Amino acid sequence: MAALCRIRHRWKRIQYLHVFTRNLAGKCDYDLVVIGGGSGGLACSKEAAQLGLKVAVLDYVEPSAKGTRWGLGGTCVNVGCIPKKLMHQAALLGAAVKDAQKYGWQIAGTVCHDWTTMAEAVQNHVKSLNWGHRVQLQDKKVKYLNLKGSLLDEHTVRGVSKAGKETILTAKNIVIATGGRPKYPTNVPGAVEHGITSDDIFWLQKSPGKTLVVGASYVALECAGFLTGIGLDTTLMVRSIALRGFDRQMAGLVTDYMEAYGTKFAWNSIPKRVDKLSSGVLQVTWTNTEMGCEHKDTYDSVLWAVGRAPESKALGLNKVGVQLDEATQKIVVGADESTSVPNIFAFGDISEGRPELTPTAIKAGKLLARRLAGQSAELMNYDNVATTVFTPLEYGCVGLSEEEAERRHGEDQIEVYHAFYRPLEFTVAERDASQCYIKVICERGGDQKILGLHLTGPNAGEVMQGFSLGLQCGATYHQLLQTVGIHPTCAEEVVKVHITKRSGLEPTVTGC
Ligand code: FAD
Ligand code: NDP
Repeated sequence: MAALCRIRHRWKRIQYLHVFTRNLAGKCDYDLVVIGGGSGGLACSKEAAQLGLKVAVLDYVEPSAKGTRWGLGGTCVNVGCIPKKLMHQAALLGAAVKDAQKYGWQIAGTVCHDWTTMAEAVQNHVKSLNWGHRVQLQDKKVKYLNLKGSLLDEHTVRGVSKAGKETILTAKNIVIATGGRPKYPTNVPGAVEHGITSDDIFWLQKSPGKTLVVGASYVALECAGFLTGIGLDTTLMVRSIALRGFDRQMAGLVTDYMEAYGTKFAWNSIPKRVDKLSSGVLQVTWTNTEMGCEHKDTYDSVLWAVGRAPESKALGLNKVGVQLDEATQKIVVGADESTSVPNIFAFGDISEGRPELTPTAIKAGKLLARRLAGQSAELMNYDNVATTVFTPLEYGCVGLSEEEAERRHGEDQIEVYHAFYRPLEFTVAERDASQCYIKVICERGGDQKILGLHLTGPNAGEVMQGFSLGLQCGATYHQLLQTVGIHPTCAEEVVKVHITKRSGLEPTVTGC
């Protein structure tokens, strides 16, 4: 008890001294303290330091429920975009090896995939990125602290190390970029004990084997896609629809392709429980809501991809008065990433209503740093952000879905140009191209401003990046038609699209 009192007393004294020092000198330890060293936090802190501010960044990773840990850089680098895209590439190579034989490559023996080799190579790359981030922070004179941060007041951050050691920092401005973590379902017995999430899958030393992926959005589809692609027996469990929020027709093409290339789908299915049998396999029980009946099957792994929860709980936000959205528990922000407390800012996955994407977090972070350094007043433009779902057949899009365009403009006021096309590389390989499709949604009147552009096909992300510039510049259908294609590419099909849905004409591209 006496020890506790001594600690409390010391703690109060530390707090007092810090507030006193700050008031006395009218200055804080730092111009800017950033909590969270992910995509956004690192970009913001480096930019601010380059512009002459004194900056510290705190990054701390709580191990996953399975005990997986990783280094500096946040979700994208360690358990998101980077390992995901590399494993997607592993899967694409598997398909390419099959195509290769049609192109004359003689492949002796059966081709099989080794998880351990892939995982080790991916993990080594991620570790090199962790190291690179540390070096960059050092070079740019950003103080990096491997501490878990929380707010004591609007200018004071408390950092706690893994060993429990405490550091107090004061700052003129504080930025929160703590991102989110995968959720587990709350009402499925055995889910946490026996399941893994995207925080674990990329760091497994051994193959997950026969896998059930639960969920039907970006993470679930991408993971199920690469697991199928590297040859694992993979089932995707969907409770409602796939890719909610995306264009419905495009989402259908993505899942049709996955189904055709080997991913099993358990549609209209809600998991009920997960049990570990004496043999070590996991028995999953689920309800099919359409049939009203129960099913069971066994798997080596169950991957929950049922959404993400913001990392806002441990930040002490209510003490300081930073407003959270009641439903999502994300931080409510203004157009300038400000929170309800004037010198505290938030952006990236932790902020309410923003896309959960790395490039938006990076750009928002850099722009915020420039504003905080008094170098610019430019705000982040969250409109027309392009995105790609890295499923076996990639799906890239920018702007509105057909449903959203109809809702905003009225069905009669939009024109939808579309085409089913065949990537040249699919021809010799005799691959089915039924799901390779382009849709350009335009205003019907005037110059026919483009409202949305959607493409399924190889390298959809690469294709969509360039076209997103067009939408950012307010491109019209007329300008799209004026653009000369690059032959022979999939992207050229976008500038050739001329059949309207309204016409009912056959939209399949034939010939060159
Ligand atoms: P994060 O990158 O999550 O960084 C937050 C950091 O803060 C973390 O390191 C966290 O440990 C740390 N932290 C949390 N609380 C504290 C605290 N109290 N003190 C100190 N540190 C703390 N986006 C794309 O654009 N393209 C993709 O292909 C893509 N693929 C993805 C694949 C998967 C499987 C997942 C899960 C996400 C993917 N994303 C992708 C989304 C992308 O990773 C996120 O949008 C992005 O990382 C968000 O950046 P952030 O800076 O807001 O947060
Ligand atoms: P989302 O929140 O987008 O989707 C969650 C999915 O899980 C939905 O399909 C949802 O179904 C389903 N679900 C939720 N709860 C349950 C449950 N209890 N049982 C069964 N299914 C359930 O989450 P994600 O984790 O997929 O993605 C998070 C964000 O990360 C994305 O919005 C994206 O911005 C980012 N990301 C980006 C990527 C990229 O750029 N390529 C890749 C991966 C992630 P329902 O629709 O019925 O609610």
